[in-house]
Amino acid sequence: MQFRNFKMVGYVVYGRGSFDQLDEILSPQRKGDAPMVFLLDHFFKGKALEGRIPLRGKDRLVSADVTYEPKTTQVDQLAKELKDAYGTVSGVIGIGGGSTMDLAKAVGLMMNNPGSSADYQGWDLVKNPGVYKAGIPTISGTGAEVSRTTVLTGPTRKLGMNSDFTPFDQIVLDPVLAEGVPVNQRFYTGMDCYIHCIESLQGTYLNEFSKSYGEKALALCQEVFLHKDHWDAQSDDQLMMASYAGGMSIAYSQVGVAHAVSYGLSYLLGTKHGIGNCIVFNHLEEFYPEGVREFKKMVDKNKIDIPQGICKGLTDEQFDTMINVSLGMKPLWENALGKDWEKQMTRDRLRALYEKL
Ligand code: NAD
Ligand code: ZN
Repeated sequence: MQFRNFKMVGYVVYGRGSFDQLDEILSPQRKGDAPMVFLLDHFFKGKALEGRIPLRGKDRLVSADVTYEPKTTQVDQLAKELKDAYGTVSGVIGIGGGSTMDLAKAVGLMMNNPGSSADYQGWDLVKNPGVYKAGIPTISGTGAEVSRTTVLTGPTRKLGMNSDFTPFDQIVLDPVLAEGVPVNQRFYTGMDCYIHCIESLQGTYLNEFSKSYGEKALALCQEVFLHKDHWDAQSDDQLMMASYAGGMSIAYSQVGVAHAVSYGLSYLLGTKHGIGNCIVFNHLEEFYPEGVREFKKMVDKNKIDIPQGICKGLTDEQFDTMINVSLGMKPLWENALGKDWEKQMTRDRLRALYEKL
């Protein structure tokens, strides 16, 4: 097909306090006594939000341990446990950041697909639709709430299960849930959105569809991280919508250099997505001069520490691993540098870039 036929999220609820509508939203999705499974970010264990989850009948509440980003083994284990216990479930609801939402998408898919989630890392490999899936972000920036992928670390690579079956059937955008995210974490995940915008807007895949979302998301990021003199409730509203629009922007284009390089870090060192993107973006003046200048202003204004020297002392073999992972992200490089990207981004140039981080 010449033009991408873009599968979107089914339903969207937005508003402060909209989380309390969840019971009503889920009710028509319940299939007999098959349970709804709620994956709740472990941060909320014992907190008030836990008590507001509309559990009914055999529903199951699972605390999602997001100490590490989701792995295919973690997804497979949870899906197997649910299949063994219930046969099938009415749906999987992810409440948390990008990690928890990705976990929910992947487990939802694996309820109806054989084998391991690692078999489906790539593009359009998923065979069957999953069970009903809903996503409820509690931290803003990744755009995982709108994307057609769920990023997993597998035995041989970190790559998404990218498919038309992956997007959520429902998302609930309630900015109140993101109140109280620690400042550093809010910045790192928020910058994921900022970097999505810069990479999309400066990319060769850019089109008016992506541009309209990307420009809006960029303006919202600039508003909350640069122009306002303090963080307020409206900032949470704005960053949640920035995340949504940023996700929509890359859905119809692609990300770029920061993401391609940061995937290597994440694979080898386990560096998390948000902070990893910041570590890399900090050194990308040659690719995104204006964006990096503005990023540094935001870092200063928000008094954030961006780690330095994380690649110090790595062996040649380790650098090679990161370079292999990174150069494997072909569409990202092509979006960033154009069709002849392989001539421009040599292994030596990429090695020099990793050495700076
Ligand atoms: P995260 O989900 O890993 O959460 C970061 C930290 O914030 C965790 O410690 C979590 O417990 C905590 N947290 C979450 N909500 C909170 C709240 N309201 N208050 C206090 N603490 C809270 O971080 P993230 O940056 O949202 O997501 C990163 C993940 O998203 C990575 O695994 C990445 O691969 C994935 N990702 C996916 C997509 C996609 O399209 N599917 C896009 C970008 C990133
Ligand atoms: Zn990202």
